[in-house]
Amino acid sequence: MSHASRLVLVSHRGPYVLRPTARGVKRERTIGGLAVALLPLVEKIGGVWITSGESAGRYMMPPRKPRFELRYLPLTAEQKQGFYYGLSNNALWPLCHSFLGRVHYDLAEWNMYEQVNSEFARAALEEADEADLIWVHDYQMARVPFFIRERRSLSRLMFFWHIPFPPIEIFRTLPWRRALLEGLLACDLIGFHIPEYARNFIDSAVELLGAQADGDFLHYAGRTTQVIARPIGIDFAAMDSMARLPQTEARVQQLHGALGGNTLIIGVERMDYTKGIVERLRGVEHLLEQHPGWRGRFSLMQIVTPSRDGVEAYRQKKREIDEMVGRVNGRFSDGIWIPVRYQNRSLSPAELVAYYRTADIALVTPLRDGLNLVAKEYVASRIHNDGIVILSEFAGVAGQLREAIITNPYSQEDVAAAILQALQMPKAEQRQRMAMMRARVKAQDIRWWVDGFLNYFDHV
Ligand code: UDP
Repeated sequence: MSHASRLVLVSHRGPYVLRPTARGVKRERTIGGLAVALLPLVEKIGGVWITSGESAGRYMMPPRKPRFELRYLPLTAEQKQGFYYGLSNNALWPLCHSFLGRVHYDLAEWNMYEQVNSEFARAALEEADEADLIWVHDYQMARVPFFIRERRSLSRLMFFWHIPFPPIEIFRTLPWRRALLEGLLACDLIGFHIPEYARNFIDSAVELLGAQADGDFLHYAGRTTQVIARPIGIDFAAMDSMARLPQTEARVQQLHGALGGNTLIIGVERMDYTKGIVERLRGVEHLLEQHPGWRGRFSLMQIVTPSRDGVEAYRQKKREIDEMVGRVNGRFSDGIWIPVRYQNRSLSPAELVAYYRTADIALVTPLRDGLNLVAKEYVASRIHNDGIVILSEFAGVAGQLREAIITNPYSQEDVAAAILQALQMPKAEQRQRMAMMRARVKAQDIRWWVDGFLNYFDHV
């Protein structure tokens, strides 16, 4: 990317939430891959990051050594309801994860989505001049490129879609399917995690809009858009170093002590019905039922981070998980040992790394997941090259972590069999598999991912 240009990032969630306190505004890092991926980039290149916030404001970041500007656009209560909880979380999220039964379409919510996307587009144009690169992120912002291009045709525009893109039979149920596709096709480049999502998008554009496909290029309405697949990476080096810190080591020893020699299986996810937490607990229950010899010998540490609790479907799923944990523990605890240790809170990256290092097995069994960063983080934390990943075949990352034990999360028998296989896997085999996964996660890290996008504009 040429050095004269700046980066204008547009995403619903940003790298920090600001909380007013008695001593001024406190900034807190947000959880999740997007912030971790893009913060170092915008700090390096400079520019503006536009995201939604509680109130309007612009802040130079980091405050002591400003590198970029963070601009907050406030949403009204009505916008938050219609655009965020409604269209984004109750329509596009279940649609793209192929949960058609959970989809709720409402024209008033779509109109609110259009309105918010149009405001973000306007803000982006206020910040960017024609030499700047505008990079829009994720399903909450699909119409932003259209509104930008409509007002300034020469913009340099790029998009990354962070969740799955569903097969056309599913996508075509969206009443505003054409508008959504046109929104994205206003870009020069669109990225998805894996080839399957890119193919699904191309199929929909061809079939529903009449776009012309030519390899990974789409021609539509006099413009050409390239569609690529590139799975987001993590900061492998940072994770690996954090795993080696003396304080991490101390915490690992402490956790080992508390486990009394039992095997630890870890599950870490946001509260979400796509993550398959109830189904996984059924797998654990099935294993304990069918193989009583394993009772008392392993525990699942299940961390569930609160998320989207403004949506009823999420509150209900939380109750289901609580009940299921209670049921498994009620059936199998023996007064000393409990099969499931459950934490319903958010953990800091340092705490997570200590858990990753302590856990012999990572259980990552979403029913559908765009990619899944937890699996990569677990691998990056395994500095002694051991440990096992059990991975759903429906997680985007399954194509990269091919040495994981791959399982069908919908089958409790299959999940139980995968856990059993992991519990019995010899160390030598673990090391062989882990070494290959570590090499791949390291090579395809966050810098590799970012470069793939920035280089695009060097070559056009
Ligand atoms: N995470 C965290 N604290 C928690 C739980 C999760 O920092 O208590 C982070 C985790 O390290 C990972 C991200 O949240 O980077 C979750 O990303 P993933 O792709 O696995 O799932 P998503 O939540 O984006 O669907």
